[in-house]
Amino acid sequence: MKEVCFGVDIGGTTVKLGLVSREGDLLDKREFPTFRDVDATFDDIANHMRQVLDTFPGCFCVGAGVGVPGPVVEQSLVSNCVNLGWKDVYVAQELSSRAGVPVRAANDANLAALGEAWQGAGMGCRNLVLLTVGTGIGGGIICDGRIIAGSSGGGGEVGHMTVPFHPEWQCACGRMGCLEVTASATGIIRAARQFSPFKEMEKVNAKDVYDAAAAGDENAQAVVKEAASALGYAAALISCVVNPEMILLGGGVSAAGSALLGPVEAAFKENALPACANVRFALAQLGNNAGIYGGAAMFFTE
Ligand SMILES: [Zn+2]
Repeated sequence: MKEVCFGVDIGGTTVKLGLVSREGDLLDKREFPTFRDVDATFDDIANHMRQVLDTFPGCFCVGAGVGVPGPVVEQSLVSNCVNLGWKDVYVAQELSSRAGVPVRAANDANLAALGEAWQGAGMGCRNLVLLTVGTGIGGGIICDGRIIAGSSGGGGEVGHMTVPFHPEWQCACGRMGCLEVTASATGIIRAARQFSPFKEMEKVNAKDVYDAAAAGDENAQAVVKEAASALGYAAALISCVVNPEMILLGGGVSAAGSALLGPVEAAFKENALPACANVRFALAQLGNNAGIYGGAAMFFTE
């Protein structure tokens, strides 16, 4: 019998649900709205799981790995998730009792890292770090093939390491000078806004700044270089602690591709401890499906 597993990514507005085979094939994927009510959300997810399995009668479902946009303790407990409005929700018990299969949960960014390590840019890599650079900066740390979630689920919060860039800028977390305030899309836009033509523009996005840098605008070049320097510096700090084999860059800003990757790697090399400097850099490959693959990896690789 073919073994399959669900990967479920619960976001603030939509749930992404995928069925993945042990071989790593994404057999089915669907998206539906997230309910505000916890019970309704899990009822709905369990219903969708049943519907999907009905269309794969020859398969044996080993479980469901669930991603949540907040800290997750011991693969189940979500004490407080602002995005979902959840307090003290035991994800594994709630979904397992409804769907009739084992359930494990993890932070969504951590799960994306595990997905990339299993079937993405880090395929087969057991020590890997993912930096997800978008509106904010999230990420995940995989050590010996396992997610580092930590004692209260805050493991892998790489965006909130303090780096020596813009110490006067406050982060969404309330602290000053986090990696996220310099190197996220929000930070890139904030820095670019100090200069023309961005100062006068009604809306600026990170791609505008990268495009201007590519076209030769010196202010834009300085802004994107600083963001890459901060990411490379942070990557060097992380490598001192967990000594990864690979560091992946994902998220919206990673669409800049080699214009981001090259300078990040250069900044990493300038700052890395020699014993931990042998790191391969690459772009994440799985995009929005990384969490689904990560959910399945919780059962297929651990
Ligand atoms: Zn912060």
